[in-house]
Amino acid sequence: MKVPFLDLSLQHRALREPALAALAATYDATRFCLGKDVEEFEKAFGATLGYPRVLGMNSGTSPLHIGCMLAGFGPGDEVIAPPFTFISTVWGVTYVGAKPRFVDVEEGTFNLDPAKIEAAITPRTKGIIVVHLFGQPARMDEIMAIARQHRLFVIEDCAQAVGANYRGRPVGLFGDLGTFSFYPTKNLGGCGEGGALVAQNEELFVRARHIRVHGSDRRYYHDIVGGNFRMDGFQGALLNVKLPHLARWTARRREIAGRYLAGIKLADVRLPDQPDYGQSVFHQFTIRHPRRDALREHLTRHEVGTDLIYPVPLHLQKCYANLGFGPGSFPVAEAAAKTCVSLPIFPELTDAQVDHVIASVNAF
Ligand SMILES: *Cc1c(COP(=O)(O)O)cnc(C)c1O
Repeated sequence: MKVPFLDLSLQHRALREPALAALAATYDATRFCLGKDVEEFEKAFGATLGYPRVLGMNSGTSPLHIGCMLAGFGPGDEVIAPPFTFISTVWGVTYVGAKPRFVDVEEGTFNLDPAKIEAAITPRTKGIIVVHLFGQPARMDEIMAIARQHRLFVIEDCAQAVGANYRGRPVGLFGDLGTFSFYPTKNLGGCGEGGALVAQNEELFVRARHIRVHGSDRRYYHDIVGGNFRMDGFQGALLNVKLPHLARWTARRREIAGRYLAGIKLADVRLPDQPDYGQSVFHQFTIRHPRRDALREHLTRHEVGTDLIYPVPLHLQKCYANLGFGPGSFPVAEAAAKTCVSLPIFPELTDAQVDHVIASVNAF
């Protein structure tokens, strides 16, 4: 039995007709940049997931970039972030001339370890970017207590955590801003690039809205420095078709994760922790094993698709060699990169496929 790591064609085949009808309507109305479809999506996304202020953008990297502009990070400033994440988490820090200051992650969840944050804080520290990696909420109470004490601006990178809850509240607004990605492989994926920013306070929200459109409230008058971060009308239209299915897709991801958690019984395997403070949306289901590469080859022989997410932590990427963090700087992240392998977990997997993954892992 073949189990692909991810097959986007199933979801898109099922939604083909409503998706193409929505695109046709947007096309006929020439609503290409922002416009009614995007406004409807912003409203529906906020109402469905619990965010009072939402801005649709052209990627998940853009709201992170804008967040760093809004926070006022700049040359000489340091921003705390985990090294075990997608690189985009910290691009914005670099774009505004500040420096990522990595802090190691927890072994059980791969998220920022609050116990290690204080030691990294210096007079130059201006903010923290928290990532809810693989859909699992980070320890926001502990992180926010440190942030308040040191007056740090907090951005939550929720690119992988749409719909995730921390102690019953949606992730994204524990800090100052939350950011989302609608890249096609994400839990709520568009048909192209997309993202969103959610803001806690009205003043930040209004500034973000102006930055999104060239720092402008009125055409050709630019009060602040901005850029072009607009969401396409087509993406708004498609996301309006997909959003009503998100709760069902998330429930199915949780069901599959439940089967993996109950069924995988392999010596030396480490399953992801399921702490009671956070309900994961299982963007990934990532396990660890000391003989990861051999396990992965074994799974390939059993026609189970896997991926290495992430093979190299950010502090060991060539583009960040200048930050001065060598091998050994963040041992938990480095061990994760060497031992983790992600299993298939998209909603359209059948139970038989999930059982085949479990049997194949257990047969290693
Ligand atoms: C996908 C992702 C992003 C960036 O989103 P894009 O839409 O690809 O720009 C940022 N952070 C994390 C953790 C991601 O997984």
